[in-house]
This record gives sequence, structure tokens and C-alpha cells, in this order.
Amino acid sequence: MKISRPIRVRIAPDAILDNYRAVRRHAPKSRAFAVVKADAYGHGQWRAVQALRGEADGFALLECENAVALREAGIDQPILLLEGIFSARDARAVGEYGLSTVIHCPEQLDLLLGNLPPDTAPDICLKLNTGMNRLGFTVATLARARQRLADELPRARLTLMTHFAEADGERGVAWQMERFRALAGDWTGPVCLGNSAAILRHPDAHGDWVRPGIMLYGASPFAETSAAELGLRPAMTLESAIIAVQDLQPGDRVGYGGTFTADRPMRIGVVACGYADGYPRHAPNGTPIAVMGERTRLLGRVSMDMLACDLTGIPDAHIGAPVTLWGHGIGGEVPADEVAAAAGTIAYELFCAVAPRVPVTVDHD
Ligand SMILES: *Cc1c(COP(=O)(O)O)cnc(C)c1O
Repeated sequence: MKISRPIRVRIAPDAILDNYRAVRRHAPKSRAFAVVKADAYGHGQWRAVQALRGEADGFALLECENAVALREAGIDQPILLLEGIFSARDARAVGEYGLSTVIHCPEQLDLLLGNLPPDTAPDICLKLNTGMNRLGFTVATLARARQRLADELPRARLTLMTHFAEADGERGVAWQMERFRALAGDWTGPVCLGNSAAILRHPDAHGDWVRPGIMLYGASPFAETSAAELGLRPAMTLESAIIAVQDLQPGDRVGYGGTFTADRPMRIGVVACGYADGYPRHAPNGTPIAVMGERTRLLGRVSMDMLACDLTGIPDAHIGAPVTLWGHGIGGEVPADEVAAAAGTIAYELFCAVAPRVPVTVDHD
């Protein structure tokens, strides 16, 4: 007999597909690279790619070997390396497997040119630094890069690309678009611009290609607008169950450090989920959680394998009662964005942090 710890992460591939269709509606004139980096934000790279393979215009990720694996599995859309190439082997793979690659600095361009025969015709996204100050060519380096490409790899197909630093915030994208236009000069070829926040909020900054990530997974890129308000469906549910119940008297404390003290008689539930499962340890008292369809609150410090929640208002909740840590499950509904906000982070980090020890189940419906 197999007795398993009740924690599960449930992935809904059709939510990912629905969310991709929302990208289409928001950016009807653009093609979209579905961003599946970081194991598709913790949802499983291959699961996300399978969900989207019939509709996505392209996929974007980081590691060349993952791109090659997708090609070998029969994915024939463009596959973009978002940080470009890291080695001569990567450069050769771009040629052999027809990968698209970002090139973001002169050194990376050297690596590409030094390892590709001059008659190859790779798709290259030349990344421009328009204010993020992480990756990208500047006014000092761009002209020479374009000249070298024209001379040494004349059949390369170029796209100009940039990444927005504050598309979700007050400063917006106009200031970066201005710099982009100044850098691009008389460029009339394709441009690749919008992340999820720009797709949803800045229709003038999509470009020929957009690069949605977080919205595919059903979380919001904005602090003040929920995923539900944006019409997005959560693709990940982290769920577990109550494994113990305690009755507390006024003055009793909960968990390590006793950071919660009961001020009246209470019932609390202990949930099989802790920071070693990927739940944020910094989630404070009051972080939302759902038990048997009722929203309640986290109590005390999150420990490695367990956390506690208030069952005072949920008298039917006993051992075995279903719990939703985030997402939409039989335990109830809790947006990942709300858990993240309570813990001082973003849903991106929660999704990526789900630990390998948590079994995955995939919804088919
Ligand atoms: C991760 C990433 C994206 C996706 O961003 P979201 O905010 O998740 O939509 C887009 N472009 C680049 C370059 C990225 O690294």
C-alpha cells in the first residue's frame, strides 16, 4: 500500500492555453514567444510546451540544451535563447538546430561569428539596453555590431529587441520606447518588445513579437490588479491537507518562536506543507489559505514541513480536510498573488520555488 504525504502541485495545461489566447486578444497584431524559462515558471517546461505547441508562435527559454531538446522532440516553431549563447557549442547548436538567439554584447557576437559558417542564416535578436541596464547594446556598441553582422554573417535575419523595467509601474514604457527609437534609427525590420505587463497595459509597446511569461501561468504582473480581473486562469494549485488539529487556550502559542498567541479559545489545523516544499517561510500571521472551501489565515511561523492555520470558524475541518495553499483546488481558492504579497514577494518566485519533493499531478479536462 502506498501512503503518500497529501501535498500536491496540480497543473492545468488548459489554463495555460486559455491564458495564451488572452495574449492573442491583447496583442492581436503581434506574434508571441511563450516564455517557458525556469521550467515554465515551475509548471514544467515540457508540460507548458505541449499545452501550447498547437498555437504558440514560438517559445523562449534560457538553456541551449533545453532548446535542442525541444527541437529533437519535434517542436518546429522558433525557439529563442533569451540570454543568448554561453559557449562555442551553443553557437554551433544555433546553426545546427535552427535556434533563434539573443545577442546582447560584442563578446557574445564574437562567440557567434567565430563558430558559425558565414553562409548560415540564423535568427538573431539584437538586444538593446534602453534603461534596464542588465543586458544589451548601447549607442557606443550597436552600430559596430550591426556592421559586423552585415559583413560576416550577411544572411542573418535580425530583430531588434529590448526589455521593459517598469511596464507594471508608474514610470511605464514611454521613456524606454524613446531610447529604443533613438538606438534603432532608421530600422524598419521586426522588433520584439512586450513582456506580460506591457502586453496587458501598453498596446503601443508590443512590437512584432511579444514575450509573455507570468500571464501564461495565470498570475498578475501588477501589484494592484488581480489575475481574475485580467481574465487570467491560475495554472498551478498547491494543495495539501490537515494532518493534525489542536485546541488552544488563551495565551497558548503556535510553532517555532511562538510568533502567534491565542487571545481566546481557538482550533488550529496543522497542514502538511512547509518551506521545504516551496512555501515562503516569510509568510506572516494572517497570510490567506483555504480549508474546505473557506478562506482562513496562516498562524505562527512556517516550518520546514508544516504550517498552521486557523480552523476556529471551520468546525467541520478535521484531519484529512483539503487545503489550498494557492491556486484553485478542492480546498478552495487563494490567488498566488495574494500569498506572495503577504510574504513580500511575487507569484513568479512562489511558482519557481515549488520543491522537487512535491509530487505533480496534471489536470486533464
Ligand atoms: C522572463 C522574461 C520575459 C517574461 O516576462 P513576464 O513578466 O513573465 O511576462 C520576457 N522577456 C524577457 C527577456 C525575459 O527574460
